Amino acid sequence: MTTWMRITGLCAGASALLACSPADTGVAPEATDTDPEAIYAASSTLWQNKNIPVCWENPGDDAAERGWVEDQIAKTWDAVSSVHFTGWQACAASSSGIRLHIADAGPHTKGLGNQIDGVDAGMVLNFTFNSWSPGCRGQEEFCIRSIAAHEFGHALGFAHEQNRKDKPGDCSAETQGGDGDLVVGSWDLGSVMNYCNPAYNGNGKLSKSDIDGVRLAYDTGLDGLVVNRFDDQCLEIAGGGATDGAAVVAHPCQGGDNQRWSFVKRADGYHQIVSRGSGKCLDVTGSSQENGGRIQLWSCSGGDNQGFTVESGGVTRLRAKHSGRCLDLTGKSQDSDAQIEQWDCQGGEDQRWSLKK
Ligand SMILES: [Zn+2]
Repeated sequence: MTTWMRITGLCAGASALLACSPADTGVAPEATDTDPEAIYAASSTLWQNKNIPVCWENPGDDAAERGWVEDQIAKTWDAVSSVHFTGWQACAASSSGIRLHIADAGPHTKGLGNQIDGVDAGMVLNFTFNSWSPGCRGQEEFCIRSIAAHEFGHALGFAHEQNRKDKPGDCSAETQGGDGDLVVGSWDLGSVMNYCNPAYNGNGKLSKSDIDGVRLAYDTGLDGLVVNRFDDQCLEIAGGGATDGAAVVAHPCQGGDNQRWSFVKRADGYHQIVSRGSGKCLDVTGSSQENGGRIQLWSCSGGDNQGFTVESGGVTRLRAKHSGRCLDLTGKSQDSDAQIEQWDCQGGEDQRWSLKK
């Protein structure tokens, strides 16, 4: 699976953490844990079974704290996707899934996604903050909930948002880990996975991109609505038709099959973009090389005028193989049913597209 979500990397070093820690708490989101085995994780770390067992290796007299963790995960990752974290009882020696270990140490995971399946102390959480991050004392519930949301993001296979190539200059957190093969959405300062988020671990709340990401990773795959950044409208086959030559337009998002597209990677590395309703492909009319070349629906041919690059690093441009030009709203129109065309690739939002469930 290849797409628009980064799925690799691991926890960054302490200096990078401190650089982006919120000044008001003075606490780092987590400690360093650089397990080299995990740094090159990729989309293969996604759990195949979406019911993911969770157990506590050393539950003690801390039912309230454990309850905060379970509740925060139920309210976040669990609530917005078909992933369910189950169990939450004491571990047996043979327990698989996520084995939580409570320690007064820097919270971390020993890998991403299913790399920690059944691993002893696969995720470490801190409930007391005596040695690590004493700034959390007095606000334990806030810290425990916020950190849990972040660490369970790693457990789902998500790396740090600040690893992205489109990190802006004013985010000084260092990247960590190798590049993934999936990037969802635009650079997201509000991500629970972003050390540069001015809110501590996003206050434990998922951003819109976090939600889109977990849904794309676990629910829809590379299939969904293709939404234009400039006008928030969806790629649609005009009139819902399925005939060769039907226009492809931007239309208010309604979620019908004539607005749903699958990105299918071809042998040449480009994607064909297939309409769910018709099974036909997005196509540049007549293999036009010109600005203004019209985008239409056509039977899938494997031609270069049906192959598109999906650029990583944010809300993506869709660049046609044959012309090198990008899908674009004609005349930057925000009207309903504006024709989609190809144009020289530029930085405008009318050439930016995201995939949504
Ligand atoms: Zn982290």
